[in-house]
Amino acid sequence: MGRLVRIWRRSIQTRVVTSTIVLSTLVVAFTGWALLRDVADGLADGRREAAVSEARSGFDYAQTQLDATVETEQSTQSQVLTQMVDSLTRTRGAQRTYELVLEGPLLTDDGQVPVRSSAAVEPGSVPADLADAVRSGSGTFWRYSDLALLGSSSTQPSVVVGSQLRAPGSGDTYALFYLFSLEDQQETLDLVRRALLLGGLAMVVMVGGVAWLVSRQVLDPVRLARRIAERYASGNLEQRMHVRGEDDIARLSTSFNQMAASLQSQIRRLENLSRLQQRFVSDVSHELRTPLTTVQMASEVLYDSRERFDPQTARSAELLKRELDRFESLLSDLLDLSRFDAGAARLELDPVDLAQVARDAARSPLLERAGIRVRLVGADTPAVVEADMRRIDRIVRNLLANAAKYSGSDVVEIEVAQNAESVSLAVRDFGVGLDGDENLRVFDRFWRADPARTQGGTGLGLPISREDATLHGGTLQAWGRPGEGSEFILTVPKPDGSAKHPAIDSVYA
Ligand code: ADP
Repeated sequence: MGRLVRIWRRSIQTRVVTSTIVLSTLVVAFTGWALLRDVADGLADGRREAAVSEARSGFDYAQTQLDATVETEQSTQSQVLTQMVDSLTRTRGAQRTYELVLEGPLLTDDGQVPVRSSAAVEPGSVPADLADAVRSGSGTFWRYSDLALLGSSSTQPSVVVGSQLRAPGSGDTYALFYLFSLEDQQETLDLVRRALLLGGLAMVVMVGGVAWLVSRQVLDPVRLARRIAERYASGNLEQRMHVRGEDDIARLSTSFNQMAASLQSQIRRLENLSRLQQRFVSDVSHELRTPLTTVQMASEVLYDSRERFDPQTARSAELLKRELDRFESLLSDLLDLSRFDAGAARLELDPVDLAQVARDAARSPLLERAGIRVRLVGADTPAVVEADMRRIDRIVRNLLANAAKYSGSDVVEIEVAQNAESVSLAVRDFGVGLDGDENLRVFDRFWRADPARTQGGTGLGLPISREDATLHGGTLQAWGRPGEGSEFILTVPKPDGSAKHPAIDSVYA
């Protein structure tokens, strides 16, 4: 059931074909029903008219017979009547199309009305209301009824025509009924019904087939367009739709191809621009390096001789050195980033035990200087990954420096966890924490929560750390809540596993 619902929801073709079949079935059923009703009415009316006129001539003949009889004696009259019924049923050709029922005389002393009928008919076949109508007045009356034949369990549809006869000699009245079978008409009707049913069925199947074909013609190019759009979405912009003819589908394909071409050229333009920018940053950083080294050397000389200067000049020499150091670190960060951007960064892989890295980090003079206590968790079991020691070290150093610089926390927790696929190292502090979407923004280049309190930072530390983690096929994620502290989790895949986060981050998920 669920599968059917899914197919109904997802496939336009199923919906088009099903609704076409349902609607055409309704139309065919209604038309068939109306047609059948007209045919049935026509057949029955035609037969009835013929029957009434045939019966009328029979009534006239019978009345003439009675008029000619002057006999008043009951038994003789009865004989005449029996003969009349016989002759009426006999004289009408070999193929008799009706049966006869003669009731009468209608007014007898004992109330018993004698009935004569042609052999095949069951006496109660005349509808009671017709019998009453005939008895109560002159004229010809008719009714549709079901004829019960003697010796047959089923009934036949029929039309019954009746009229009153009067014997002038005795003054007795009689009711004569003609019973015409409608079986031929019923057979014709059955034939028409079967033909309509088969024709209707064939028509519905045909219409369903046509709907399927037509919807396929329209939907095939749409499906193709969808597949190509999916390929565009996954970054493959080379594909083009095949344009055939000049119809709407062809125009759709053309627009689609134009869109892809335009997207491709825009992307190329942006790629070129971005490459140019990267080149520019890299070139500028390189170009600045040489003069910076010279200026730095000169500043070292000034710095070393600051004792001989007056206090104000000595302070300037110190400031000069500090800012030049900062400038140098900014330049080297920029060069690093441009190497990542150009895809030129390379890893020097060695087995690295992240538990050992955590233990070393716990003894970092950086934290000691800031008076921060360290809690080590899970650093007893070896957690070995293939990694570039220099880069891992840089990440951890950066995380510890940030905790010391920005968090204001006096405790830092370093936790190592691992599963079959990867190892993670988390640095958690209990300081100011991160606000709202800051845990995503900390990885933006040059982003700082509070630029006024830069603490000498450039806003490039975390972006570089994340690039380092990505280079390892791993991740660097941040979590934080204002006032509760923050946590940075480095995850590196084990040599034979793909990166999945081990136990640590699930705590904050
Ligand atoms: P920088 O190189 O200037 O230190 P980072 O990229 O390392 O820059 O960090 C960017 C910003 O993220 C910092 O300016 C600081 O506002 C915020 N930040 C980083 N670590 C923490 C932390 N542990 N607690 C609070 N804020 C932090």
